Amino acid sequence: MSDFSIGVDLGGTNLRIAAVDTEGKLLEKVGLSTKASGPDHVIDEMCEAIHRLTSQYRVNGQFLGAGIGIPGIIDLEAGVVRRSANLKGWEEYPVRREIEKRLGARIFLENDGKVAALGEKWLGAARGIDDMAMITLGTGIGGAIILNGKIFYGMNGMAGEFGHVTIEPNGVPCGCGNHGCAERYASATAVVRMAREAIESGQAPALARAASSDPEFSAKSIYNLAIQGNEDAQRIFHRFGVTLGILMAGLINVLNLDMFVIGGGVISAWDAFAPPMFAEMRERSLVYAATAPDDPKRDPKNDPREKKEGASAWMPNYTRKKTIVTRALLGSDAGLYGAARIPVS
Ligand SMILES: [Zn+2]
Repeated sequence: MSDFSIGVDLGGTNLRIAAVDTEGKLLEKVGLSTKASGPDHVIDEMCEAIHRLTSQYRVNGQFLGAGIGIPGIIDLEAGVVRRSANLKGWEEYPVRREIEKRLGARIFLENDGKVAALGEKWLGAARGIDDMAMITLGTGIGGAIILNGKIFYGMNGMAGEFGHVTIEPNGVPCGCGNHGCAERYASATAVVRMAREAIESGQAPALARAASSDPEFSAKSIYNLAIQGNEDAQRIFHRFGVTLGILMAGLINVLNLDMFVIGGGVISAWDAFAPPMFAEMRERSLVYAATAPDDPKRDPKNDPREKKEGASAWMPNYTRKKTIVTRALLGSDAGLYGAARIPVS
């Protein structure tokens, strides 16, 4: 006998549903499209799939409920999506009530960044870590803070908006109304924007050639150019890493958590952006300078970083406990597992 729950990852183009048992074992995963259909239709299909999964796995154990990860600002009390850039037509729609009506089960809504953090904490990079934050790099930057094993919501659930921390006082305008937000320089969208701007300025001929022969010119293709040695592409990921490092330095200084997990599709470009990110964290965060783990591959005699500047120049690295900044392990499944975890806990 094993009790189970359902995790749902509701995106702008895809809907993924998983039945997961209380030990974290995946029983079954289903994928559906949400393209060009409104909430009524998507919820009908979602409930049909959940119903099929629950009737199938109920023979083995009790169904504990469903958690649903949604991109946007969720009103947890009302069970309503207040604002979502990716889900058109869902604002103010009574998501929880409509699903509960169809399924007659316990339903929990949660922001997608927060469920990804719960997933990584339960079964991924932060397994067993009670104080951590997750930074998700995708079309924007999502975030979540977990304290004492529980999501820290802030006053009304809006804590963790890491993507809209200002990095450049007079930087690029952001959809949130501010200028120079972190996600305008360190997200998949930002990589493509920076590449297009470099091309338009006439300063990046190699990038321009690549873009003209690649109809899908995406963050992934720009990363491929960077690892092939294209300097224009490398500069973009350097900027990405510096921005993320400035953001991380601020988060580490403020929160002093055991672990920061970086996830989202763009982490496949980790090799291109992580070195400048770590360098920036050492220079800008006294907390990181004091707690950074030793790099086993580092040779102090031949390391240009030994010529120290910034925080690491004057803050001795002295504590036994280290700040771990690491890649997420569950990929796009983090949200599914995290959502399935909510009814269990
Ligand atoms: Zn913003």
